[in-house]
Amino acid sequence: MQHEIHPLSDTPLRQQMLANVACFEGIKDEVFNELIGMATAHFAVPIALISILESRRQWFWAQAGMECTQTPLIDSFCATAVAADGFFQVTDAVVDSRFRDNPLVLGNPGIRFYAGYPLVTSEGLTLGMFCIIDTKPRPGLTTEQQNILKQLARIVMLRIRDLRESSYVDGSIGLYNRIKFEKDVEAYRHRGEPVTVIAADMISPTFLNEIVKSLGYPFAAKVMLLLKDKLKRIIGERDLYKISPTRFGFMIPGAGEIEKLIGLLSAEIEQPIECSGIPLQPRAGLGMLRLTPGDWHEDWLRCLVSSADHARNTGKGWVYFEPELDRAQMRAFTLLTSLSKAVERDDQFYLEYQPKVEAASGRLCGVEALLRWRHPELGLISPGEFIPLAEKTPLIRKISAWVARRALEQLADWKAQGFEWQVSINVSAADMADSTFVDQLIGLLREKTIEPHLLEVELTESALITNPELTRVNLERVRDCGIRLAIDDFGTGYSNWTYLRMLPATTVKLDQSFMRDACRDTKDRAVVTSIIQLAQTIGYQVVAEGVETAELYELLKAWGCDQIQGYYVARPMLPNLLVAWAQSR
Ligand code: C2E
Ligand code: CA
Ligand code: CA
Repeated sequence: MQHEIHPLSDTPLRQQMLANVACFEGIKDEVFNELIGMATAHFAVPIALISILESRRQWFWAQAGMECTQTPLIDSFCATAVAADGFFQVTDAVVDSRFRDNPLVLGNPGIRFYAGYPLVTSEGLTLGMFCIIDTKPRPGLTTEQQNILKQLARIVMLRIRDLRESSYVDGSIGLYNRIKFEKDVEAYRHRGEPVTVIAADMISPTFLNEIVKSLGYPFAAKVMLLLKDKLKRIIGERDLYKISPTRFGFMIPGAGEIEKLIGLLSAEIEQPIECSGIPLQPRAGLGMLRLTPGDWHEDWLRCLVSSADHARNTGKGWVYFEPELDRAQMRAFTLLTSLSKAVERDDQFYLEYQPKVEAASGRLCGVEALLRWRHPELGLISPGEFIPLAEKTPLIRKISAWVARRALEQLADWKAQGFEWQVSINVSAADMADSTFVDQLIGLLREKTIEPHLLEVELTESALITNPELTRVNLERVRDCGIRLAIDDFGTGYSNWTYLRMLPATTVKLDQSFMRDACRDTKDRAVVTSIIQLAQTIGYQVVAEGVETAELYELLKAWGCDQIQGYYVARPMLPNLLVAWAQSR
């Protein structure tokens, strides 16, 4: 005997369909109300229902005569009726062994008569039932009556189809939307066919926003229409979808002529367009992803969008989805979410301290606090990786606050042990863009009664360029309260001496890149010696970092460099090791 699949089996397709109509639950539909009214009048019944059957319950899209809007599936007549695969009726429930103990028969509303017709989609999926109910037993419906019930059910299905389709359309541009794109792509998977999906980023979201701000919404809408027409001309009869405000999508089934089409597209979409006489340069990017039933990405839409974004940002025109790149983005995402937790606690972050010595005497004169992060699963993560990520978010402010507090606690601790070492902390551009961080530093120094000159903040030269005016105001506050200021990675930025001369800095740290070749390359050597001289003339103290050899140490000493930091002197260390190191010298 062959087992039929029960009409209510939770196949992915049925689930998708139910999820699709679920968004209409609770929204009254006038057409349905009319149909229910017709049914109660025509059949002279107190109850009529449009029932949608989910895996555990039925809910009523429209109804007359019932007090509730849903019932558990187990009590539902419709759940039994649906298995009949066509017209179903019970003339007197009280004498029917399947129903006589049913709470809807024994209690409210006291069902005796039931007749229904299933609601079946064009794909052959059963969504629920259209039914009429009486509280008195009745003779069965005539064939003619059955046909009327069948027609009512059919009208319901046509209406559901229209409702669903209207939720698939982006009316502003006259294209199918993202939901429909997802549905149509998933259909390939259900049919077991390969498909290549393509996302076309036509302009950057920021650019669209600029257009809206300066020229208004109607103009922006017109621009998107022009871009749509352009795409349509190239992709021909294929369906085009609007999948985000600036992004379109389409697909090429099987092993279609992909390369040729993409070549055409990428040449075309970069051409300037003209909208109401204003020329505009699209900055487009095409992302592509090949999906086969055996190699289907669950999150294909995310992958697709991220590759289109990548194509646009890098100016590459078009790229296939690259798992490598995606892994990097996923890692960045994981790190950022874990970072927000790490900064709230004390068991993942810690500081190491790297000594700085006076070049002439070799005496320890200060330490630089360097942040370390031990991720519970990923292990030790370099600040070179997570700091630039954090700097793109407000998290960096919390991280800097954590570092400042911990470094000053350590400083106070060492002071209590009789070591008066200056501690430098690294800060980011964002920390200096408003007064909160400087307030925090001043507060901490007071709280721990630490002389401000024992604290130094290191800020990279490039940070000064981002927001020069605000940064300068805050840096002046730093100077005025006696905290020292070092310019980190000196020599990598613009080195605008006129500007630097006005900065309230006390120290410059020569970038490590100079050190690498300074021993051999005469040009590098000339740059290093003249920067040292120039910086000292302006009144800066000069620190060389990244010094790894005795030879370089001696050269820097001869060139008059004030302080030296680097592996040759010592690597960054935990606080107790640093004390042992200092005492052993
Ligand atoms: P940076 O401020 O330029 O710090 C110097 C980096 O060079 C440190 O790397 C240090 O360990 C390394 N280093 C020191 N001596 C030598 C040497 O002789 N040879 C070589 N090859 N490297 C040496 P680290 O600790 O990995 O930090 C990397 C960067 O991360 C730092 O560069 C800094 O920009 C950032 N960073 C570290 N901690 C913090 C922090 O607490 N806050 C902020 N905002 N940034 C931090
Ligand atoms: Ca530094
Ligand atoms: Ca540096």
